[in-house]
Amino acid sequence: MNDFKREPEPLIQAELGAMERVLRSGWWVLGEEVRTFEKEWASKCGAAHAVGVASGLDALEISLRALRIGVGDEVITTPMTAFATVLGILRSGAQPVLADIDPDTGILDAESAKTCLSDRTRALMAVHLYGRAAPLDAFRELCADAGIALLEDCAQAHGARSGANPVGTVGAVSAWSFYPTKNLGAIGDAGALTTNSEEVASKARCLRNYGQSARYDHAEIGLNSRLDELQAAILRVRLECLDAWIHRRRKVAQQYADGMRNDAVRVLSLPQNPAAHVHHLFVVVCERRDELANHLRARGVETLIHYPVPVHHQEACRTFRLAPRGVPRAEAHARGCLSIPCHPHLTDDEICHVIEAVNAFR
Ligand SMILES: *Cc1c(COP(=O)(O)O)cnc(C)c1O
Repeated sequence: MNDFKREPEPLIQAELGAMERVLRSGWWVLGEEVRTFEKEWASKCGAAHAVGVASGLDALEISLRALRIGVGDEVITTPMTAFATVLGILRSGAQPVLADIDPDTGILDAESAKTCLSDRTRALMAVHLYGRAAPLDAFRELCADAGIALLEDCAQAHGARSGANPVGTVGAVSAWSFYPTKNLGAIGDAGALTTNSEEVASKARCLRNYGQSARYDHAEIGLNSRLDELQAAILRVRLECLDAWIHRRRKVAQQYADGMRNDAVRVLSLPQNPAAHVHHLFVVVCERRDELANHLRARGVETLIHYPVPVHHQEACRTFRLAPRGVPRAEAHARGCLSIPCHPHLTDDEICHVIEAVNAFR
């Protein structure tokens, strides 16, 4: 699914240079590298501010808390997402409410989300699942009508666009993960949030560093969620590669979509505008999913499932409120979805081999 040993030698050399620069600087936490990466990431996203934090999970928690969302509040989101989305909402003190998905994309459906509104709803957490931009226009309208905040979980969608807008610039705050497997990854845990609000950015800066507003002044009950200099320096080097990597991922996905011909295997539809998808994961749906996974494994093709258990079936989440009509489409998706290898270092031969293996499934 991923092979980090395939990083090209010139990139490794540049990363070693960045690491040496940090080591010799004698300043390892919240310094020049973090500040510069924050500027570069904000500018890449087209957002006014970026705040580096320790992980995507922390970015989600801090995003909500910076908007003063917490205990007693409800946040509408999707049951088809990384568990961290829901965990971030819970850690802010708020309660997730789960709406159904669009079966064509796996992404939260705006109509279903609307049926989840209550007088406690304070926000909608959009997730750009698998690297495809969620329908932010529809979400923005829903949120404006309901008087609630829109947040974006961008952990899978670095560089994707929703219409004219880059993801991470439409919601009041957006959370990013730079976990190694993400489209832009560090060599350990790292995350960030982006926002156009000076007030939200400064609240987030305060929260990530013990809630400290000035040295020894604690305006908030914060956490220790500082992005360290080493990860920021690595991210700055890799950011230079992001566009080329996205380009390659799109090529891989297009070849898969063109080449996979099997009535038993449905490829999730590609968006009309290629800019809307950065193909963090390439997902197919198959009624006999486990048989397909075994068939591929026997041909040397590794697969994963994103995600086999929808959030409300997790033991810790059985009491969550669902949309009044339930989430049957998310449940069906969880039974059939399978992620096929999709990353920038796949070779053309490997792509052909994967296509042939999928097409040979009977
Ligand atoms: C990876 C991921 C996260 C969590 O990020 P971490 O950096 O691992 O904490 C959150 N949401 C989604 C959708 C993710 O894919």
